[in-house]
Amino acid sequence: MRSYTGKLLRINLSNRKSHIEDIPEQWMKNFLGGRGLAARYLYDELKPGVEPLGPDNKLLLMMGPLGATTAMSVSRMALVTKSPLTGAIAKSVMGGNFGAYLKFAGFDGIIVEGEAEKPTYVHIDKDGVHILDADGLWGLDTQETHVKLRQRHGKSTQVACIGPAGEGLVRYAIIISDRRCGGRTGVGTVMGAKKLKAIAVNSAGPLSVYDPERFKKLAREQIEGLKTSPGRIRMSDFGTAYLTLGYEKVGIFPVKNFQEGHLEDVEKIGDEEFAKIKVKNDGCYGCMTKCGQVRQVTEGSYAGAVSEGPDYETIWALGGNLANTDKASLVAADSLCDRLGIDTVSVGNSIGFAYELFQRGIITKKDTDGLELKWGDHSAMMKLVEKIGNREGFGKLLGEGTKRAAEQIGKGAEDYAMHVKGLELPAYEPRAVKGYGLVLATSNVGAHHMYGRPRDELSGKKDRLTEEDKGKDVAQAEISQATQDAVIQCSFGPVTGFTPQQRSDLLVAATGFDEFGDPAYLDKIGERILCLERSFNVREGFSRKDDTLPKRMQTEPLKNAGPATGQVIRKLDTLLDEYYDALGYTSQGIPSIKKLRQLGLEWAVEDLNL
Ligand code: SF4
Repeated sequence: MRSYTGKLLRINLSNRKSHIEDIPEQWMKNFLGGRGLAARYLYDELKPGVEPLGPDNKLLLMMGPLGATTAMSVSRMALVTKSPLTGAIAKSVMGGNFGAYLKFAGFDGIIVEGEAEKPTYVHIDKDGVHILDADGLWGLDTQETHVKLRQRHGKSTQVACIGPAGEGLVRYAIIISDRRCGGRTGVGTVMGAKKLKAIAVNSAGPLSVYDPERFKKLAREQIEGLKTSPGRIRMSDFGTAYLTLGYEKVGIFPVKNFQEGHLEDVEKIGDEEFAKIKVKNDGCYGCMTKCGQVRQVTEGSYAGAVSEGPDYETIWALGGNLANTDKASLVAADSLCDRLGIDTVSVGNSIGFAYELFQRGIITKKDTDGLELKWGDHSAMMKLVEKIGNREGFGKLLGEGTKRAAEQIGKGAEDYAMHVKGLELPAYEPRAVKGYGLVLATSNVGAHHMYGRPRDELSGKKDRLTEEDKGKDVAQAEISQATQDAVIQCSFGPVTGFTPQQRSDLLVAATGFDEFGDPAYLDKIGERILCLERSFNVREGFSRKDDTLPKRMQTEPLKNAGPATGQVIRKLDTLLDEYYDALGYTSQGIPSIKKLRQLGLEWAVEDLNL
């Protein structure tokens, strides 16, 4: 037995039929799982030019070979589709329990295709796959949907669903399972366009592995190592909230829609402050860290608000980015975003964009449904979140994402839209951490905070501000992230704690595929995934011109940002040349024939007009 089930569930919503098919073994060996296998299927099955919100787009939910085993922090799930924000390939990674239970039900992944005539949900149990009407579910928020489905199918039912934002086609809608989101790139919007409200699973483990004794020993070693790991314990105590104060100090934490790098009273939204209102930890299947910080507001106008968060990205998006240091409002807004089913990063970035347009007089109260948008004002932020999630008034425009909203507003608004390829920038100031800026520019899914982390640069071991010798490190960071997303392991390094060789050993013991025993082989898989995703985009018309950063990053010196004050990105072209060179792409950012052949992707050569 292998830890792969080897089975894929294909659901066609147009004809309400499903069937199970085998996953080719060579695909598992070449693409591993998660984001890798999903990219392979999407490339194969999507014709170029498909409308992301039309019936011909597909949504893939894919697990990895270690998922649902006893190894730690490896049971997450990749969500892949063509993005309604960017028109490029999309990826998001969702935690929680859903993926593990999908494997217990016998599937490594699901491909959803077609479009239902009316709101629908899918229930998977021991009797099969049932495609059902979503009467009584459509219109509910994500928490209510979980409650309702558990009333119908039992308390242990695992659910992945969308909220009103996905139903209303807000372009950055999420898929959520309990409080764990597949947040970025609009994967929930695609689910909404297919009129699929939820997938519910009832199943039970355990899952077999190829070499149980060896696997048990390796998993035990992993757990023993993690028990005393300081990095893991810090994640358990604070989640990613611990990043805020350190990053603000060195100018990485963007403020007021990337206008500056210092936030007055930032301590009010620091990790220690959030720790005061922590209730408990929560998190993903098979994780001893449980980085999720469940927090509850007990006083003031947001009393009663509870969320598993906010995490670093959300503290920035709805906090620092708006000069908002009211921590209670952040808990309330985080919870509201989850219930409505919208990505906190894109929503906060879009609201920051609107605040700056208001500051500059490009929009006025006439445009904002009478709301005055002032930096630091969290009550206006809450109203906008609600309007965006429900697609009301001015919120409808912001729910299109900053790129489209700027195009509609005109009057120079595009200069203040902080996105790459249409995906909103996350909580990293590119001018203060330039390798990370290069990741955001080159990412095949747009400005995603989890497309590659140049860790030495972020930790300060390498010079953050130089604009030379970054290409190789960035290429390696993106390769490494692609491999992680294929395994599919948690991206927070300290919580998995294994070395590349230990990870390889676990994979061999789980799958019986000896090839996985060589870490260099896994690196090659990461490079192959990256190259295939880029090929997908090239087929859609993307090239070097799209690997860029907002004008502000290249023309305006960063203000008030500690050691990064005055920084600007002057040599983006040099950085891009280095990056393409490191990956064997042409000067136009297109994989070369030689590279495609090296990676066993020669079948894509014809598609790229090389
Ligand atoms: S550390 Fe957090 S995100 Fe990572 S697997 Fe554990 S609970 Fe999930």
